[in-house]
Amino acid sequence: MTGTLPAIGCTNTPVLKERGQREVFCGLTGIIWLHRKMQDAFFLVVGSRTCAHLLQSAAGVMIFAEPRFGTAILEEKDLAGLVDAQAELDREVARLLSRRPDIRQLFLVGSCPSEVIKLDLHRAAERMSAAHAPHVRVLNYSGSGIETTFTQGEDACLAAMVPALAHSEARALLIVGALPDVVEDQALALLAAMGISNVRCLPARRSADAPQVGENTVFALVQPFLGDTHAALLRRGARHITAPFPFGAEGTTLWLQAIATEFGVPQALFDAVIAAPRARAEKAIAAARKTLDGKSIFFFPDSQLEIPLARFLTRECGMTALEVGTPFLHRDLLAPELALLAEGPVISEGQDVDKQLARARAARADLTVCGLGLANPLEAEGMATKWAIELVFTPVHFYEQAGDLAALFARPLRRRALLAPLAPRMEAAE
Ligand code: SF4
Repeated sequence: MTGTLPAIGCTNTPVLKERGQREVFCGLTGIIWLHRKMQDAFFLVVGSRTCAHLLQSAAGVMIFAEPRFGTAILEEKDLAGLVDAQAELDREVARLLSRRPDIRQLFLVGSCPSEVIKLDLHRAAERMSAAHAPHVRVLNYSGSGIETTFTQGEDACLAAMVPALAHSEARALLIVGALPDVVEDQALALLAAMGISNVRCLPARRSADAPQVGENTVFALVQPFLGDTHAALLRRGARHITAPFPFGAEGTTLWLQAIATEFGVPQALFDAVIAAPRARAEKAIAAARKTLDGKSIFFFPDSQLEIPLARFLTRECGMTALEVGTPFLHRDLLAPELALLAEGPVISEGQDVDKQLARARAARADLTVCGLGLANPLEAEGMATKWAIELVFTPVHFYEQAGDLAALFARPLRRRALLAPLAPRMEAAE
């Protein structure tokens, strides 16, 4: 852990709220990691050809013999055609399920086109669940770009699952957020070594392993963008364990410590369990810190990971945050993060892209974290950038990934340092 804890950090920093044009992917993007995580689920996007193209291009080459997502394309229909659209959707789903007995959970995912917004997908999901029970449960959520930014698709999906979870009075820990299996296994192994049993995950890898929930469930979030899921779990009577998020050696330690305290794990046992992985994490971070130390960073709002990452990069990697933008600031979830983040950066919520670009150009941070659409123009102006979307596609949680997380930020700076001596020669050759 670096430095002394600031008393309140950015807790009381005034937030610059912007509500202008924003440049982010929509919530359909979450399907790309969710369909890998939930092995017997299928995501049927009810949308337009644009949605189909987004999924196909963002997901890249299909690595499964049988894909686990698809798009039911809804062409222009007048209101009278909506009855047909419901029947068409029923037929489409019946065809899919008869062909694919491996599907146990089906998500109808809403999108932007007005024809889709007029369709009542919630009623459609209820009707289909009744028709295909008990083999398949059908749920719905929206991935529309009007309502969601790219990580909110996962939040909407998990929040839709919560009301359908079975009730249990048993004392249990629920880990909430889709992690790559190998990372999830590392976290479960650490908790098991501390003697914490009855630990379940949302989402589960298979629907048969879906967690149960009730008044004796406590839950810990691994992602800061799960505000709706957090609210849905509270409505089921579960209690949230508030903690910083498990990014970096410090964040992981504090996240585990909050759970260990809740379950009465003796401090000596806790320290013994984390000692070796924490030391590995600190060593791996130190290697990237050589590049990051003393550098400045500017975050555009993309994933809602920005505040925890700024905390990690400033406290463990020696960086200075100039602006930390987030699409939404969920104070209940981020209070421990804001308290750890030292005063100094502008904290902004929402986006007015032109104004923010002007601030980024004026700041000229050593590294700017932004979406794909902004990265190329900024690179052309000589600024080093990091694509925000990589942060959700790369395993970055917990001790064993802490070095990789720091390296993700160090890489563009190293690349720029290597290219710098070549730049005058390249200009002369032009
Ligand atoms: S949901 Fe909306 S923003 Fe997303 S791909 Fe479809 S039309 Fe575009």
